[in-house]
Amino acid sequence: MSSFIVSNRKEDCCGCRACDNICAHHAIDMIADEEGFLYPIKNDNCIDCGLCEKVCPYSPINIENEKAKQDKIKSIYPKTYAAYSEKDRIGSSSGGIFYTLAKHIIEKNGTVYGAAFDDDFQLHHVAVRSLDDLKPLRGSKYLQSNTGHIFSDIRDRLKKEEYVLFVGTPCQVAGLRAFLRKDYSTLYTADLICHGTPSQWMFDQHKAYLENKYKAKLVDYHFRNEEMWGGCEIADFADPKKGKIRRHKLPSYDLSPYLYSFMYAFDYRHSCYECPFAKVPRIGDITLGDYWGIKNVFPTMDSSRGVSAILVNSPQGEVIWNEIKDSLIYKESDFNTVGLENKNLLKHTEKPSIRDSVYKLVKERGYEDVANKEFRSPRFKAIKKKILLQKVGIWQLMEIVHNVLKRLK
Ligand SMILES: Cc1cc2nc3c(=O)[nH]c(=O)nc-3n(C[C@H](O)[C@H](O)[C@H](O)COP(=O)(O)OP(=O)(O)OC[C@H]3O[C@@H](n4cnc5c(N)ncnc54)[C@H](O)[C@@H]3O)c2cc1C
Ligand code: SF4
Ligand code: SF4
Ligand code: SF4
Repeated sequence: MSSFIVSNRKEDCCGCRACDNICAHHAIDMIADEEGFLYPIKNDNCIDCGLCEKVCPYSPINIENEKAKQDKIKSIYPKTYAAYSEKDRIGSSSGGIFYTLAKHIIEKNGTVYGAAFDDDFQLHHVAVRSLDDLKPLRGSKYLQSNTGHIFSDIRDRLKKEEYVLFVGTPCQVAGLRAFLRKDYSTLYTADLICHGTPSQWMFDQHKAYLENKYKAKLVDYHFRNEEMWGGCEIADFADPKKGKIRRHKLPSYDLSPYLYSFMYAFDYRHSCYECPFAKVPRIGDITLGDYWGIKNVFPTMDSSRGVSAILVNSPQGEVIWNEIKDSLIYKESDFNTVGLENKNLLKHTEKPSIRDSVYKLVKERGYEDVANKEFRSPRFKAIKKKILLQKVGIWQLMEIVHNVLKRLK
C-alpha cells in the first residue's frame, strides 16, 4: 500500500486533495489517521500513471514552477494595504474583505468557494452562487476544512469561462493551482495568513464537551468576536423548553480550551510546523489577514471592529483589487511592517513540545480532563476574576482608586 503520493512523511502532505481530484481511476482513498487528519492512500485501482504526483503542491516540479512564476514578478509585488469595509466588517473576522470580494464575484454571475460548517459542524469547502448563501462562509473557522471534490468542480467552471473566487489556507490554494496546471483569466485566488489547523476530530471533541457542559445541542459557533476584533468563543445552544437560543460567550481566547490550544499551536496538522507556504511571495493572487498592531502604524484608522492586512501578489490580484478598492477604506503599507506583528506571514509556526502527545492525551484521558489541565491558560483565573468584577462594576472602581493613588505618589 503506497501513501502520501510524494513522500511518506506526514509533514509533506497538507491534505489539499489535489491528488484524489485528479485520479480518474478512483484509486485514492482519503483516510483519516488516528488524529482525524485526512491522508491519501492508493488502492488496487492504481495503474501507476503518475498523474497524482504531478498535481501535488509538494512535488519538486510544482515548487520550481511556482518559484519561477514568482521570480518574474517579485520586483513589483506584493503591494500591501491596510483596509476595511465600513459596511461589511461586522459579521467578518477582520476587515470584511472576503465578503467584499465574494459579492463582487457573485455580481459577475461567478461562483465563490470557501469553508462552511454543515448541520453537524463538519467543515467543508462549498460553492456559493448567491448573496443569500454567503453568510456561512464568513468568519474564520479554526480547523482544517475538507475540500472534497471541489477542485474538479472549479476546473469545469473555468473551462466554461465562468468567474471563480477560491478562498482558503495557502496550502489549499497551492493544491488548486497545482491541480489546474494552467492559469485562467477568470480565476481569482485568495490565501489566508495561516497559523495552522487542528483536525475535525479535535473540534468534534470540543463540541461534545460544550454540549455536555451546557446540557443542550450546539446550534451555532463562532471562533471570533464579529462585532469587536479578536479571539472569542461564542456558542449558541437550542433551549427547547423555552423555545429559543441560549448564548454562551467567552470574551477571551484564554477562557476557551479549544481557542487556547489553537493559539499556542498544540494540535495542528504535522505539515503546518514545516509549512512551505508561510512566506512572501505568497501563493494566492491576494492574501487576507489581520492587521495586528495597526494602531502603531495608522493611529487614526478606526480599528475597533477589525482591519485587514491585504497583499496584492500578482497581476490577477491587482485586477480584482482595482475593481473593489473604491468600496473600501484603505491605506498603502508594506509587508515587513505587517510581518512584525503577524509572524505567520513570513515564517511557519514552531512545534511546541506537547504536540506529539496531545491527541494521545485526549484519547486516553478524555477531552474534558485535558481541557481543564493542559488546555487551560495560566491567565484563566485572573481573567475570570476580572470579568466578574467588571460585571458587578467593582473593576472600574478599582481602576479609579489605582489611578488616584498613582497620581498621589
Ligand atoms: C485556520 C486559520 C488560521 C488563521 N491564522 C491567521 C493568522 O495567524 N494571522 C492572520 O492575520 N490571519 C489569520 N487567519 C485569517 C483571518 O482570521 C481572517 O480570516 C482573514 O483576515 C480574512 O478576514 P475577512 O474579514 O476578510 O474575511 P472572513 O469573513 O473572516 O472570511 C474568511 C474566509 O476564510 C475562509 N475560511 C474560514 N475558515 C477556513 C478554514 N478553516 N480553511 C480554509 N478557509 C477558511 C472562509 O470561507 C472565508 O472565505 C487565519 C484564518 C484561518 C481560517
Ligand atoms: S498513479 Fe495514476 S492511477 Fe494511480 S493513484 Fe495516481 S493518478 Fe490514480
Ligand atoms: S496532493 Fe495534497 S493531499 Fe495529495 S499528497 Fe499532495 S499534499 Fe497530500
Ligand atoms: S500552516 Fe500551512 S500547511 Fe498548515 S493549514 Fe496553514 S497553509 Fe496549510
